[in-house]
Amino acid sequence: MWKDMYDINDLIMISALQHYAFCPRQCALIYLEQIWTENRLTVEGKILHERVHEEGNEARGDVRIERGVSLRSLRVGLIGKADVVEYHRQADGAWLPFPVEYKRGKPKPDHCDKIQLCAQAICLEEMLHTEIPGGALFYGQTRRRLDVTFDETLRRETEEAARQVRDLLNSGKTPKPMYGKRCDNCSLAAACLPKTIQKRRSVNNYLIRMAGAGEEP
Ligand code: SF4
Repeated sequence: MWKDMYDINDLIMISALQHYAFCPRQCALIYLEQIWTENRLTVEGKILHERVHEEGNEARGDVRIERGVSLRSLRVGLIGKADVVEYHRQADGAWLPFPVEYKRGKPKPDHCDKIQLCAQAICLEEMLHTEIPGGALFYGQTRRRLDVTFDETLRRETEEAARQVRDLLNSGKTPKPMYGKRCDNCSLAAACLPKTIQKRRSVNNYLIRMAGAGEEP
């Protein structure tokens, strides 16, 4: 039996973990500053999710499919929704949950999608009192399913991400931008201005250093 650690009113969104793993500043801009800008990619992603949720539940032989499943974990302090939870019938007749998350693009080099899926599994395990060894990410661009194993490393990474998101939101402070390759794929780049702010910061730091050294800049 799990020992509940978080109040029902103190849960963080599972999707925040994925944003945090992508970029902590992006997570803060969305969940602290409520900034969200739509672009072609985010709109396509939203439409894909809506389509998946609208398809309804079904059963195919030894697989039952539920869509738009509400999730929560009081142990880790998470709340959210799974696109799809498949239930696979086992040899002993039991139904093993298998979460499937739909993504618009293609597999990414980082772990942010896997962390989101693992967080869904952690919620399902707590809700259904079971263990879930794996799930899958479906990528619209490649039209392929990528199987994901919820091993100890991914579980630790997921719970650590949940702790870090909580700390970030409790701090109320948005991290400074750090320009990197990921910024080119970020829907918040226009609001974040990573290059401009970073350049302004370097100039300010230079002026402060020069002033401290008593030199004319
Ligand atoms: S533009 Fe870059 S630094 Fe800014 S939120 Fe996006 S990924 Fe983070």
